Amino acid sequence: MVKQAVKVFVRTRPTATSGSGLKLGPDGQSVSVNVPKDASAGPVNNQQEQFSFKFDGVLENVSQEAAYTSLAHEVVDSLMAGYNGTIFAYGQTGAGKTFTMSGGGTAYAHRGLIPRAIHHVFREVDMRADKMYRVHVSYLEIYNEQLYDLLGDTPGTSDALAVLEDANNSTYVRGLTLVPVRSEEEALAQFFLGEQGRTTAGHVLNAESSRSHTVFTIHVEMRTSDAASERAVLSKLNLVDLAGSERTKKTGVTGQTLKEAQFINRSLSFLEQTVNALSRKDAYVPFRQTKLTAVLRDALGGNCKTVMVANIWAEPSHSDETLSTLRFASRVRTLTTDLALNESNDPALLLRRYERQIKELKAELAM
Ligand code: ADP
Ligand code: MG
Repeated sequence: MVKQAVKVFVRTRPTATSGSGLKLGPDGQSVSVNVPKDASAGPVNNQQEQFSFKFDGVLENVSQEAAYTSLAHEVVDSLMAGYNGTIFAYGQTGAGKTFTMSGGGTAYAHRGLIPRAIHHVFREVDMRADKMYRVHVSYLEIYNEQLYDLLGDTPGTSDALAVLEDANNSTYVRGLTLVPVRSEEEALAQFFLGEQGRTTAGHVLNAESSRSHTVFTIHVEMRTSDAASERAVLSKLNLVDLAGSERTKKTGVTGQTLKEAQFINRSLSFLEQTVNALSRKDAYVPFRQTKLTAVLRDALGGNCKTVMVANIWAEPSHSDETLSTLRFASRVRTLTTDLALNESNDPALLLRRYERQIKELKAELAM
């Protein structure tokens, strides 16, 4: 096992106004933000307070391609070598989480990390003739503490869906459809299918914002093509687009949307508590308090290579949200995970191999 620091990058959404109150350091890693002092401090108040942070990188005005290079390239290479990965986007609504993970609009150049990771995976599959790969994708949504399967014959929620741990203490979602995909095109088709099913409701900050957390997962099964060897390696990459991290008060919501906001705040506040507990090295970590933290357990402290993208929208009016995102991000940066190769001599894998060999033999006999 290899100890890994969780990497944290900040990505800024381009702002319309100048003087956003955000200052980047010349090292490309530090950032400071000016926040007005509390309004209750006095009637005449233009005092500013400055907060500084350091991350693994600050991405300002970078293309989607450059963002992929910083955030995902290494994680996908390690996925193909048999290691788990998670990349998750955190930040207020409108800050660019979905733009980063999925992409913006239909322009090819605006493709996000998910379609680019799919492309990268199949490029590796095609290049490595010495290995045999099988790829599956799944798409999970967590909405109001319910798990939704966005793929398969019957997308939606069901009691069969549950977050569990396997024999190696790794988390997985029981009942979630894993769709086998043989090419980039097939994987992209599943991704777009799942995107259409995402639960969204209107919202004053951003009409298109998702009120849910989504996890697109690329599952890779790698075997040596040597017939005598029974070595199999299973790995997966979670690409996570979290719901907006803003506090409820600002958005003025009521009714159903308020209920959603409370669920979102609950899961994100448990995410915060989980990160704090891990950061303090507490004996008890509240992973099981919400579906979100249960799903992210490996990413935050288990067998996983993890990257966080803290998306910020550095308009002066959002400075409090920006500060709270940067504070959370710097706490996440204190976390470490234990990376290990997921070698398996799982009989189910071997059985599937024999089934395939029998099928191939039958096909040969029929010729
Ligand atoms: P979120 O998912 O965090 O709510 P979005 O990804 O939907 O935010 O982004 C909100 C809007 O800002 C979208 O119209 C998106 O295209 C735009 N946007 C966000 N980040 C960027 C960026 N880095 N470059 C260009 N446009 C961006
Ligand atoms: Mg979004």
